[in-house]
Amino acid sequence: MINLNAELKEVKTAGIAGHIRPDGDCVGSCIGLYLYLKKYFPEIKTEVYLEEFPEAFRFLEGSDQVQHNCDQTKEYDVFFCLDCGDEKRLGNAVKYFNTAKKTICIDHHISNQAFAQVNYIVPDASSTSELIFNLLEETKITKEMAEALYMGIAHDTGVFKFSNTSSRTMEIAGKLMDKGIDFSTIVDDTYFIKSYIQNQIMGRAMLESIMMLDGRVIFSAIRQKDMDFYGVGTMDLDGIVQQLRNTRGVEAALFLYETAPQEYKVSMRSNGKIDVSQIACYFGGGGHVKAAGCTMQGSVYDVVNNLVKHIDKQLKQIKVTN
Ligand code: 5GP
Ligand code: MN
Repeated sequence: MINLNAELKEVKTAGIAGHIRPDGDCVGSCIGLYLYLKKYFPEIKTEVYLEEFPEAFRFLEGSDQVQHNCDQTKEYDVFFCLDCGDEKRLGNAVKYFNTAKKTICIDHHISNQAFAQVNYIVPDASSTSELIFNLLEETKITKEMAEALYMGIAHDTGVFKFSNTSSRTMEIAGKLMDKGIDFSTIVDDTYFIKSYIQNQIMGRAMLESIMMLDGRVIFSAIRQKDMDFYGVGTMDLDGIVQQLRNTRGVEAALFLYETAPQEYKVSMRSNGKIDVSQIACYFGGGGHVKAAGCTMQGSVYDVVNNLVKHIDKQLKQIKVTN
């Protein structure tokens, strides 16, 4: 574990950034740390960078101070990369990582190779927000910080349901609840409630899903023209791969969306037997054992066939070892 006070000694400027296409844990952990540094280290000029994130996260205090462009040249005394498995995933903020005097990575991705100078990486942790909680002085955590961290933990655990949820996770969630947050509304408004078009595109993805390998793999793909038709953006596709995984008998769910002609962003989920992080890493991506992603070139069928080959190989190995 790292000591925040020691790391911030004599620091005058600090930058914080998370991964591209920020999710709940990424935004929650970045804003949680940002609010804490702003309040308790006022002598440090702290700035936070994130790509555009879902409107529902805007209730968080400090979300209006998040910067979305990295055009200026800056050299931070310390630069924090949160919830980010590798340098590439920092997007444009990588330039601040490269120029910073000291870099600190706080993350829970199993694919993380400890790419910063100082690393606090715990693959067993539910979320980066849980790790941020560990670094902060509990009594100093305000309600607003608690809202950000609770949202992050709730999102990365599928609302305390995935196997990354530990008794420690629940203990931390309880401590955050004690700060007076409206935990029920946070979860509803940021996780469960979908817009009408989000539900429509989800329905479309379910309708067109295909089972493979005798029902052990399910996949669905959304093309750019479908997104245009429904008027949705990539941020509206959250939750689709999770819903695909909730199909009885399925070991792995694959969801693809087109990012450019012949280019697909792949989201993978496993129900436990398949290690999707290994497959994502093979194709230049990363993630966790049960949730991982990568970007691949080719037609939908090229991409799916390549992925399914790896899943099939893993399933056969499991059979052999059993
Ligand atoms: P999702 O499918 O929700 O986009 O991502 C699942 C998990 O895999 C997340 O923890 C995310 O950070 C990670 N992930 C998704 N895509 C990539 C990728 O292209 N590279 C890496 N390193 N990790 C990814
Ligand atoms: Mn995370």
